Amino acid sequence: MKKFLLAPGPTPVPEEILRVMSEPMVHHRTPAFKAMVGKTIEGLKYIFQTKNDVLIFSASGTGAMEGAVSNVLNRGEKAIIIRNGKFAERWGEIAEKFEANPIYLDVPWGSAIEPKVVENLLNENRDVKAVYTQLTETSTGVVIPVKELGEIVKKTDALLVIDAISGLGGQKFYMDKWNVDICVSGSQKGLMLPPGHAYAAVSEKAWEKIEKCTQSNYYFDWKVYRKKLAKNTDPFTGSVLHVKGLLKAIEIVKNEGLEKRFERYQNLATACRAAIKALGLELFANPSCDVETAVKVPETVDGLALVKKMRDEYGFTIAGGQAEVKGKIFRIAHMGYIERFDIIAVIAALEMVLKDLGWKFEWGVGLAAAQKILTEM
Ligand SMILES: *Cc1c(COP(=O)(O)O)cnc(C)c1O
Repeated sequence: MKKFLLAPGPTPVPEEILRVMSEPMVHHRTPAFKAMVGKTIEGLKYIFQTKNDVLIFSASGTGAMEGAVSNVLNRGEKAIIIRNGKFAERWGEIAEKFEANPIYLDVPWGSAIEPKVVENLLNENRDVKAVYTQLTETSTGVVIPVKELGEIVKKTDALLVIDAISGLGGQKFYMDKWNVDICVSGSQKGLMLPPGHAYAAVSEKAWEKIEKCTQSNYYFDWKVYRKKLAKNTDPFTGSVLHVKGLLKAIEIVKNEGLEKRFERYQNLATACRAAIKALGLELFANPSCDVETAVKVPETVDGLALVKKMRDEYGFTIAGGQAEVKGKIFRIAHMGYIERFDIIAVIAALEMVLKDLGWKFEWGVGLAAAQKILTEM
């Protein structure tokens, strides 16, 4: 059976990337390889929309998240953590592990924070060192108002730290223009690479705090990476293959153009949402991001069976809900190497599965709604 991958990571890898990642091994201390590292850093700056330093780690995205806590917060230091999903919770788990003092701003899953709430909390707690949140909360499909948060946090001494692991390269984002101090991401979502590479872009304001941080780090000591990456080299044996793949991914992003790319994912999201509504289903996220569509499972439908049937009977890997929304939502990701006919295909399969599970609608209504929007792309 032909397989379709529309999960929120890992995402499909284009053939031209796979090809360069299967070339013979190169040594990581050669001038030729260092030149490639230099180019990837420049390319990542374009994708992050920043002039700041960009660090590269051989780790999954969480490695960069860990570093964004352990290099920033001393024990006992306050940080605001906006908690509206599984990955938001991860910021909290890391902060607790390093014995920082997280102040949680709990928001119901599926909703986004009201920026004013963060402003008030920052005013009441002048000693907060950082605000942690996501660009897109992948467990719920919500987009967080990062631009508005940037306007608020920039007026304080606190840093704004964004996990853009699923959002980067798909969801509209401008690190410098939006006053973001640290942005972390990973390779296996919007960047179309296999899992195993993580990135962090770090502002001067953030470096000042990092220089003063006394927390212990070894593999993720960002000060060491900064020194080494200034010379286009990794402190350790970095993933050579990911660097080669990343160069290709950057080329693909640049050829399309970041703005065009944002627009394409917006259209994919609009089409996907239109199909869902036409099928009589409800969206889970408000506001919905552009890189994933999260859908409420109707009470009469078995949500776990839906995701399983999609995979086992039709070859489509989508995602179910995690933790408190397990069985209650399903998620169709449209990040990375996903184009309009992937959306058509997944909606077609979804209609088949929904019919099978007893949901009532007219054949093709979801498809027609999506086609109408995708034709205009
Ligand atoms: C996938 C994801 C992560 C976790 O990344 P790993 O690469 O699995 O460590 C963290 N945050 C968000 C928003 C994600 O989508």
